[in-house]
Amino acid sequence: HLDVGDAFALLGTPGLVPESDDTGGPQPSDIARVAAAREDLIDVLSGQSVLMSPDGGDSTTAFAPWALRYSGHQFGSFAGQLGDGRAISIHVTPHPSDPERTYELQLKGSGRTPFSRTADGLAVLRSSIREYLCSEAMAALHIPTTRSLALVSLPELAVQRETTETACVLTRMAPSFLRIGNFEAFNGPTDMFFFGGGQQKPDWEGLRILGEWVAHKVLGFAPGSTWGAELVLEVARRNATMVAGWQAYGFMHGVMNTDNISVLGLTIDFGPYAFMDVFDPHHICNHTDEGGRYAYKFQPNMIVYAVRALLNALAPLIGSEAELSGAVAKGWAADATPEQIKTWAQAAQDRLRDEVDRVVQSTAATEYARLMHKRLGLRRTDATDETQLVRPLLALLEEHALDFHGTFRLLARFAPGAGADAEEALIVRLLALCGAPERLDRTAAGAAWHAWLATYAQRIASEREEWADAGTADADVDAARGAAMRAANPRFVLRQWLLEEVIAHVERDAASGKRVLAKVMHMASNPYEPWGAEDDDDTPEAELSAEER
Ligand code: AMP
Ligand code: MG
Ligand code: MG
Repeated sequence: HLDVGDAFALLGTPGLVPESDDTGGPQPSDIARVAAAREDLIDVLSGQSVLMSPDGGDSTTAFAPWALRYSGHQFGSFAGQLGDGRAISIHVTPHPSDPERTYELQLKGSGRTPFSRTADGLAVLRSSIREYLCSEAMAALHIPTTRSLALVSLPELAVQRETTETACVLTRMAPSFLRIGNFEAFNGPTDMFFFGGGQQKPDWEGLRILGEWVAHKVLGFAPGSTWGAELVLEVARRNATMVAGWQAYGFMHGVMNTDNISVLGLTIDFGPYAFMDVFDPHHICNHTDEGGRYAYKFQPNMIVYAVRALLNALAPLIGSEAELSGAVAKGWAADATPEQIKTWAQAAQDRLRDEVDRVVQSTAATEYARLMHKRLGLRRTDATDETQLVRPLLALLEEHALDFHGTFRLLARFAPGAGADAEEALIVRLLALCGAPERLDRTAAGAAWHAWLATYAQRIASEREEWADAGTADADVDAARGAAMRAANPRFVLRQWLLEEVIAHVERDAASGKRVLAKVMHMASNPYEPWGAEDDDDTPEAELSAEER
């Protein structure tokens, strides 16, 4: 029954130790108070007690936690009602540096909710650690995402999965956890029979209230503005921006069901996700995804699919809003037949569907180009870069099975004027990243890289003026470009094998595992740093000592 203010003071207190005062060191009473508050905080963040809000006087009120209903299309089929089965929100709090913005605090894995169906509402250590680390890794890559705040393991609570595992509660934060599936819960496909039988009836009033909430409270549309079509297009733009970040940094989500697509365009629901190692656009990270629906290269298309599901849910409201008000304004509606009205509404929906496709496509392409320019250390966007530079580079990575991230870190060392030997040495290092060296034809591969580096060198040379405008002398351009690239290309990547090792360590030994987890969290949150020796671009994951693993 911790006071909200105390909870946040504690979260911001390193080591949870009170400041020492003039008389030398914390007083025993402070230590006891902080220790007690810390226990309270752990109770709140593990779902054992609720936050209390001071009421001014002596009394307090408990916050009532809430879970949301949603439906969704899973792997392309409507799945009926789902909902927050193991997530429960406990609080909304102003952002510490921007009181206009709020953050919702949500526990994941704290037990059953009204939407748990037959499941237990719990989460295991493995999946919680994966989400805890990855949402912060994504934030450090500047990809829109939900965030993680705390992880509490409950070793005394056994969870039955394939084997018996340890329970764990993650606290995550986002301005809103609303998903496209929340809209589909009010108006899903009507031929769907639910578990209990009976047809789902659309709830127009519920849909309208949710739409207005999302438009005005979540997306920040001006009060009183119409929101239907604009809401759909804004959700399209935000998710297109997000997926461009995924593509540029080789993130694969694995379960892009419409209940896992946020209306704010945040990366949400870290399940079987993976970061690309060797570049392979066909890679499928979810082993239950047999058809490869959510393979890396299809991710942008799956955003189009999800936003179309949102449009389908909202369409009846949008059609009447857009087309009918236009008809009335033109004085047509008075003698329009119901058939005419239906035709106008259908035409409006068709137009909007095409616009959704166009908006996702163009937003994602623009954002992806911007990010790839950053990764290549280029200052200007040329229309031909995608076909002449980026795609040929990715084709080389795929053909030579090179590591997606290591390649960019090495390219930061490229100095066009440094001579043939330096270029040869760089190519040797690039080819050393090959995941299948026995299949590599080194002569052919070397020639292909020389050709690509020549194009890159020309492109770099074409930017002398831009660098000069930025105050960089000719002689310093390579160093400045290298530094810019090292700040845009992570040296630390939250790779699958590393996650496996960290999870295994925490499962084996909680006390030392906690320190390793903290270290990996620090690396994931600061992925561009030159960990260890300055000249060392080897995987920093190796810095975890044998016993840390
Ligand atoms: P996901 O595959 O993680 O997107 O989850 C799909 C649905 O299953 C969501 O409605 C989840 O809340 C629900 N779910 C998954 N695991 C559990 C669990 N252990 N207990 C209750 N609901 C769950
Ligand atoms: Mg989910
Ligand atoms: Mg999940």
